[in-house]
Amino acid sequence: MRILIVGGVAAGMSAATRAKRHNPQAEVVVFERGDYISYGACGLPYVIGGEVESFGDLIARTPERIRSEGIRVRLRHEVSGVDASDQSVTVQEAGGRARREPYDRLLLATGVSPVRPDWATPGVAGVHVLRDIPDGQALEASVKSARRAIIVGGGYIGLELAEALRARGLSVVLVERGLDVAGRILDPEYQRRVRQELERHGVDVRCGVEVQALTASHGRVTGVQTSAGLLRGDVVMVAVGVRPNVALARSAGVKLGHTGAIRVNTKQETSTEHIYAAGDNSESVQRVTRRKVHVPLGLTANRMGRVAGVNMAGGAAHFPGIVGSGIFKTFGLGVARTGLSQHEADALKLDAVSVDVESTDHAGYYADAAPIWVRLTAERGTGRLLGAQILGHPGSVKRIDVIAALLHSRGKVHDLAEVDLAYAPPFSSVWDVLLVAAGQAS
Ligand code: FAD
Repeated sequence: MRILIVGGVAAGMSAATRAKRHNPQAEVVVFERGDYISYGACGLPYVIGGEVESFGDLIARTPERIRSEGIRVRLRHEVSGVDASDQSVTVQEAGGRARREPYDRLLLATGVSPVRPDWATPGVAGVHVLRDIPDGQALEASVKSARRAIIVGGGYIGLELAEALRARGLSVVLVERGLDVAGRILDPEYQRRVRQELERHGVDVRCGVEVQALTASHGRVTGVQTSAGLLRGDVVMVAVGVRPNVALARSAGVKLGHTGAIRVNTKQETSTEHIYAAGDNSESVQRVTRRKVHVPLGLTANRMGRVAGVNMAGGAAHFPGIVGSGIFKTFGLGVARTGLSQHEADALKLDAVSVDVESTDHAGYYADAAPIWVRLTAERGTGRLLGAQILGHPGSVKRIDVIAALLHSRGKVHDLAEVDLAYAPPFSSVWDVLLVAAGQAS
């Protein structure tokens, strides 16, 4: 049994490890076009911000350690084509010749690439995206000599970087073409609170503004031309979204879904026999709506990879789907969501209603009680939970997991109201904000 894996980060390495564990006799080979495997891309903003000392700290397992587990690792090897009819791939080693490699099972764990709008002309120094360790190193080198940063895009990566770049002493302008920041994450009322947090920490937020062109001098960026005039900056961070890497899937005749990501079943099998896909390049089922979605996040990638690994090695595993959970922090504000926002529920024409509760994250009489805002969204009539959004002190918003667990099992507001939540004054009020929200929504 020869298992080939394309891509050596979250999904690819999870799959390799599981496949080898499930079937130690299988030959497992990982092809990674870059220099790094098995690292946490999620930590990149924190290296830039200085909370994490070095990019090396993000590496979970070195190639040597992985090789010692019997997995073959081929760095700087790009897979450039798949021939599904004779079950082989074409591999190009950096600086070497292309060769064919046969497979019994193939996993595409190729991830996503950052969207680079037309105006983000390649070759202009000081213009960055952030996807992998080399991107992080390049951004770090620019930041060292920069004074003014322009972040384009108010999604979670842009917002994490706003904090990181302020921590490095740069002035930061954040340009977002939507009406507010975190537009695809939160409802408008909650977006506003996130923007206020940025502004409180000196970030100049420009919403409803579109970047049209870069300005540069001697090959270095000097700013951006926008629909609202010229902005000056010596480092420009482009964080306007990602696209699934599906070129290989296409070359193998693998079907894509309506989201543009690879269509897979719960075993991570694609439409082409013996070819699997996992991670950011793949769709998953949103359990609340039962629709196929493309939500490229870390736990999903790791979990899909494990499932694919077991199945490729002859076992039987299923990916359960997602409920749409996400969490991040910007400055002193933690932001968490799961399921659907009211806005998303409305767009799907669900009969949804939301309640908002503002409270403190623990007993008001105990030191450092901080505000917390919870929006709970449920289906009118049935009381089925549809989603939640929580803003507050970063340590307090992980409560979202209670709602995620209930969404996973299609729980109702009534179920939430009855959960025996842990209580002591340093952690919550006796009636935790989630219970208060459930009570109001009942
Ligand atoms: P990737 O990590 O993209 O890995 C794919 C690999 O495939 C790449 O190394 C690529 O070089 C390789 N590859 C592609 N094509 C080929 C080819 N043809 N031949 C050989 N190799 C190939 N998620 C969260 O859940 N929480 C967070 O807080 C969070 N923060 C993030 C912050 C940042 C800055 C970034 C960039 C991502 C963050 N994520 C976060 C997302 C998370 O990192 C991804 O979901 C996860 O890395 C996806 O893993 P993957 O293996 O599917 O894809």
